[in-house]
Amino acid sequence: MAVIADDKKLSSGVLQNNLYENVNRQFNKAADLMDLDSSVRDRLSKTTNEITVNFPVRMDSGKLEMFTGHRVQHCDVLGPYKGGLRYHPAVNINEVRALATWMTWKGAITDIPFGGAKGGIQFDPSKYSKLELERITRRFTFALGNNIGPEYDIPAPDVNTNAQIMAWILDTYLSMMPPHERQRCSHVVTGKPIEAGGSIGRDKATGQGVVFSIVEWAKDKGFNLDGATYMVQGFGNVGSWVSKLLKPYGSKLVAVEDATGVIINSEGIDPDDLTIYVKANGGVGGYSKAKPGDHETFIKTKADIFIPAALENQITAETAPLLNVQLVAEGANGPTNPDGDKILVERGIDLLPDILCNSGGVIVSYYEWLQNKRSEFWDIEEVDSKLEKRMKKAYIKVRDAARNYKTDWRTAAYIVALSRLETVLKERGIFP
Ligand code: NAD
Repeated sequence: MAVIADDKKLSSGVLQNNLYENVNRQFNKAADLMDLDSSVRDRLSKTTNEITVNFPVRMDSGKLEMFTGHRVQHCDVLGPYKGGLRYHPAVNINEVRALATWMTWKGAITDIPFGGAKGGIQFDPSKYSKLELERITRRFTFALGNNIGPEYDIPAPDVNTNAQIMAWILDTYLSMMPPHERQRCSHVVTGKPIEAGGSIGRDKATGQGVVFSIVEWAKDKGFNLDGATYMVQGFGNVGSWVSKLLKPYGSKLVAVEDATGVIINSEGIDPDDLTIYVKANGGVGGYSKAKPGDHETFIKTKADIFIPAALENQITAETAPLLNVQLVAEGANGPTNPDGDKILVERGIDLLPDILCNSGGVIVSYYEWLQNKRSEFWDIEEVDSKLEKRMKKAYIKVRDAARNYKTDWRTAAYIVALSRLETVLKERGIFP
């Protein structure tokens, strides 16, 4: 878990946009182009359940503090609700709605039997002790009660949450179950520590999926990854894994931005060395084997591939014209807003959209869930090869839809997802 040490950029208005509006614009564009059934369109344009809980937690000082958390469940027609939990001061109901909706599309594109959900607590975890974080997590789980469950709604890590936090959720949830039912409920969360029932390969899964997508794109384009340059925004779970996993292909990391600063080195930054530094120092700021820079210099850096792996609304009408790259591979959810998308298309910059590119996390979460249900432990080769096969299949479907509909890749990814959902929703109909 990367600690967000400096939130200056968050108060600059970047995240104040209504993220849910972005989702609706993306959705409407695809629905128009594919002529989506109007009743299916109505159903998918609304979330199913929105749970907001206000709950008290005792601080180390002995004082009590109130917190607000959300869980939004968008659609469960393909399977149980599934999606991460985010701890961040910018968490709000519209953001959670957007993130929940994207989860539905991801499950649909990758053919996994999950619906979409997301949750979060609005607070800055870097300002609380480990014991306070544990109590906040446990009280949130208690407040959610039966709104989550192993066959109903399954949380996972997201920004500022990690395997440890999943272990606390698991323990709290199981403690609320009757003793004889506890052993069959370990799949109530995924992204757990391996010893507590997590899957090998889940920690790197999102980054691994991003890399598998980039490799497919490179094959399609006849692009040589050996010697290619890449820049990464966010050096937490997703950003650090993408960086490390691209290294064996001979690609060179030339710039990184996180909440603590920007570092640039056209000769290359070693992702493994940087990971050790970030673990010790909480961020990339101050890394001595690269030059410091500012946000604008970072965005203008010349590189072949840009991997946004931090927060949303980073590639916009203001920043998209400044990018100096051939490909944007979205590790983060919603890093590009619709205005940014338009400019990327106009400028001929390729895009691997979030709902395809970062779906490796939910895919391996599905594998973890399956292993728990069957009391199995797969090895890393099995997890990786299954992930690669599924990512490739999803990539090909999106690429072909882009060709068939003569549209951009984000709209194509939506069309793939919406087609599957349309079929199932029409087959099942409406009760009563
Ligand atoms: P994380 O908490 O591990 O890392 C977040 C990173 O973003 C940190 O390096 C932090 O310093 C940086 N950051 C925060 N604010 C920033 C700012 N204003 N400017 C620049 N950098 C900033 O989170 P993560 O799990 O790596 O998630 C990153 C993104 O990937 C999120 O959009 C998340 O929804 C998405 N995602 C994560 C997973 C997963 O499995 N963890 C799966 C799919 C998508």
